[in-house]
Amino acid sequence: MPIYEYQCRNCQQSSQFLILKKEEEDGILCPGCSSNQLKRIISRVAYHPSQDDRIMNFNPDSRQTESFYSDSRNIGLSAQKQAREMGVDLGKSFEDKLEKLRSDPGSILKDSSI
Ligand SMILES: [Zn+2]
Repeated sequence: MPIYEYQCRNCQQSSQFLILKKEEEDGILCPGCSSNQLKRIISRVAYHPSQDDRIMNFNPDSRQTESFYSDSRNIGLSAQKQAREMGVDLGKSFEDKLEKLRSDPGSILKDSSI
């Protein structure tokens, strides 16, 4: 996965972005202050965040980058985080549906049981 780490020149916050195409780098914004003055600090981050990390790091109040939305693993992240914070168990079937959506986003159109 081409995940890169950036540091904001404005507030110094570091953040990671999945950059699939060079052009996507132009559109990334600091999650802390929304500045676009980011510099790449590590050429490539070798670790893959776990789904738990994703939920932990996900900030529903910050504007998400396009790469966030194009990453199907982020589907349902907002709901999962909210549920976790409220101590609600969404249940196995919900997780299964998310998993299905993430692995095959087109399946929701075919599966009328969702
Ligand atoms: Zn910043």
